[in-house]
Amino acid sequence: FMMLTKKLIEIRSILLSIDHNETLKLPSIVVVGSQSSGKSSVLEAIVGHEFLPKGSNMVTRRPIELTLVHTPNSDEEYGEFPQLELGKVHDFKQIQRTLTDLNLAVSDAECVSAKPIELRIYSASIPDLTLIDLPGYIQISNRNQPETLKLKIEELCDKYIQEPNIILAVCSADVDLANSTALRASRKVDPMGLRTIGVITKMDLVPPSAGAAILRNSEYPLHLGYIGVVCKAPEDVDGNMTSALIRNEENFFRNKFEFNQRGVNVGTATLRRKLMNVLEQGMGRSLYSIVDAVQKELEEARYQFKVQYNDRRVTAESYVAETMDSLKHNFKEFALLFGKPQVRHEVRTMLEQRVLDICAETYWSDPKVSDLPKAASDDIYWLYKVDLASAALTKSGIGRSTTQLVVDILMNNMERLSAGEPFNYHNETRKQIASFTSEILRTKFLTTSDQVENTIKPYKYEVEVTDLEWQDGVKRTVALLEKELEMCDSMANTIKNAVGKTKLRGAIKFLLDSEREDQRRQERVRQQQQDGNTEPYIEYASLSDEEEAIKPLYNPKLLEKAREALFLRDRAMILKYRIAALKSRQCKTQENKQYCPEAFLNVIAEKLTYTAVMFIQVELLNEFFFQFPREVDNRLVYELDRQQIQRFARENPSIMKHLDLQERKGKLEDVMDKLNYLVRKQADRQARAKMG
Ligand code: GDP
Repeated sequence: FMMLTKKLIEIRSILLSIDHNETLKLPSIVVVGSQSSGKSSVLEAIVGHEFLPKGSNMVTRRPIELTLVHTPNSDEEYGEFPQLELGKVHDFKQIQRTLTDLNLAVSDAECVSAKPIELRIYSASIPDLTLIDLPGYIQISNRNQPETLKLKIEELCDKYIQEPNIILAVCSADVDLANSTALRASRKVDPMGLRTIGVITKMDLVPPSAGAAILRNSEYPLHLGYIGVVCKAPEDVDGNMTSALIRNEENFFRNKFEFNQRGVNVGTATLRRKLMNVLEQGMGRSLYSIVDAVQKELEEARYQFKVQYNDRRVTAESYVAETMDSLKHNFKEFALLFGKPQVRHEVRTMLEQRVLDICAETYWSDPKVSDLPKAASDDIYWLYKVDLASAALTKSGIGRSTTQLVVDILMNNMERLSAGEPFNYHNETRKQIASFTSEILRTKFLTTSDQVENTIKPYKYEVEVTDLEWQDGVKRTVALLEKELEMCDSMANTIKNAVGKTKLRGAIKFLLDSEREDQRRQERVRQQQQDGNTEPYIEYASLSDEEEAIKPLYNPKLLEKAREALFLRDRAMILKYRIAALKSRQCKTQENKQYCPEAFLNVIAEKLTYTAVMFIQVELLNEFFFQFPREVDNRLVYELDRQQIQRFARENPSIMKHLDLQERKGKLEDVMDKLNYLVRKQADRQARAKMG
C-alpha cells in the first residue's frame, strides 16, 4: 500500500518548484542504459503508452522528469507539461511530438542539456512513480556522436545516479553484462547494488538458459537483483498497450522452466511491483531526513521573512492596486496644482515671448525707432506699423499653439509621473500610460484649438481696452522689458568674460572702424558714379598696410563674438530708450498706442491668454483630469488577468524577491504539514506492527 510514495511524490513536485540548490531531495528512479538497450521500451511498458521520442539519431538530449500519478477513480488518461502552458494532453502521440520538439530545441553545439523536461502522466493503470529518463550511453564515438557528447552524457548520468535516487540499469540480454556502461557507472556510486535494479531486456533474443543465468544474480550481483523482460509490444495496439504487451511477455516466459525457478524474476508486471516497493522503501528511508531538511529550510525562510519584511505579506494584486492608487494620487496632486492660474502663467509666458519677438522684428531693429517718441500723432508709418504688429500677434495661430503648449506640458508631466519609483521597473506600463495620455489629448486637441481660435477671432479686427487694462499692461511691459534688458546685459557680460575685456574692446573697435571704412568706400564709389566715372573703384579689393597688420589678430570666431556684443549693446540701448518711453507721459493713455506698441501688444496678449485658457480649461484640462484616472483603472487594473498581474508585480525586483520568499515559505509550510502527517502515520504503522 503505497501511500507514502504517492504523498511524497506530491511533496517532491512542490519541493522541485522552490528548491534551486537541490538540498531537498526525495528519491526518484533514474533510468540509465546504453543506446538501443531497450530503455525507452521498458519505460513505455511501465506507462502503457508509446510516448518517448524515437529515431535512429540520439533523440533524448535532455533528462525527462517523469512523474506517474495513479488516479484510481478516473478513466481519464493524460499528460501534462508543467513548464509549458499546454494543459492536459490526452493524445500520447502529441506528448511524443512535444518531447521530440523539446529535445530538438537543444542545439547541436550543446549536444545535451542538463535542464530536465518535466512531464506528468495521470492514469488509473499506472503506479505512483517518479522516473527520470536520461540520454542513453553511447559506446563508440563517431562523426555524428563525438567524444565530447559521450563524456557529456556520462557526466549527466553521473549527476543523477547519486543518492538517494534508485538506479534502474537497463541492459540488453544479447550484450555481455561485462560491457554494460550502466552497471559500471552504478557500481561506482553503489558498489553493493543496494539501490540498483538490473533490468535485462530482449530476453527473447537469447536462449532461455543463457537468459536465466544472467537473472540468477550471481555474475554481477546486485542486492536488489535482476528482472528479465520482453518489452516488444505486438504491432498496432490501440490505446493502452500494457495488457497486450504483458500477455505477449507472459506467453514467452510461461512455458519455459528456466524462468520458473526461485531467484529468477521476470516480467514487466514484476518490474513494476518491484519499482513500487523499492521506491516506497526509499521514500520511507528518506522521510526523516527530508523532514529535517525541510524544517531547516522553513526556519531559515521564516527568519528571512521576519528580518527582511517584518512578516508583512504582499500579493501581486495588492501591489498592482497600490501602484495604481499612488499613480492616481500623484496625478490628483498634479491636477490640483495645475489649475487655471498655472495654465494662465504658462500661456502668458509663451505669448509674452511672442510679443518680444514681434517687437524686436518690427520695432527694435528699425533704425527709425529712436524717432518714435517725437513722431507726429498722425504719422501713417507708425500707425500702420502698430496695426501690422498686432495682426502678427493675433494671427499667429493662437488656437493651435496655446493648446499644443498645454498638451506638451501635460505629456511631460505624465512622463515625469510615470518615471519615478516604481514605474521605472514597468517599462511596458509606462509606454501604455504615455500612449493613452496622448490618445485622450489627441481626441481633445482639434476641438479645443478650434474653439480657442474662434473665440479670439474678434481680436483680429479690434481690441477694446479699458484704462485699467492699459495701465496694467504698461506696468507689466516695463517689467518685461527690464527683464529683457537684464538678460541682454548678462549675455554681454558672459561674452566679455569669455573673451576678455581688452581683447573684446579691440575687436569691437576693429569692427566699427572697418564698418566706417566700408561706408566711406561706398560713399566714394557713389561719388565716382555720380561724376560719370565708370572705372571700378579698385582700391576696394586691397587692404592698407595698417589693416594687414592687425587683421590676423582677429580670428573669425572672435569677430563673431564682437558682433554679438555689439548687437547686445545696441539692443540694450534701445531697450533703455523704450523703457523710458513706456514710463513717460506719452504712454499713460491708450490713445497713444502707436507710441507704445510693446504695451499694446502685451495688453492683447493678456486678453488672448484669458480667452484661450478659459476654453483650454473646459475642453482639454477638465476632460483630461476626469478621464485619465478612469483610463488607469480600465487599462491598467481591470483589464489585467491573473498572469499579467503576476508578471507586472514581478517586474519590480524587490517585490519579486518578496513574493518569492513568501511563496517559498508558504510552500515549505505546506510541505511541513504534509510531512508531519506522514510521520504520524508512519509511527502509527510501526507501533501497530510491533503490537501485531
Ligand atoms: P533505447 O535506445 O534504449 O531506448 O532502446 P529502444 O527501447 O528504442 O529499443 C531499441 C530496439 O530494441 C527497438 O528496435 C526495440 O523494438 C527493440 N526492443 C526493445 N525491447 C525489446 C525486446 O524485449 N525484445 C526485442 N526483440 N526487441 C526489443
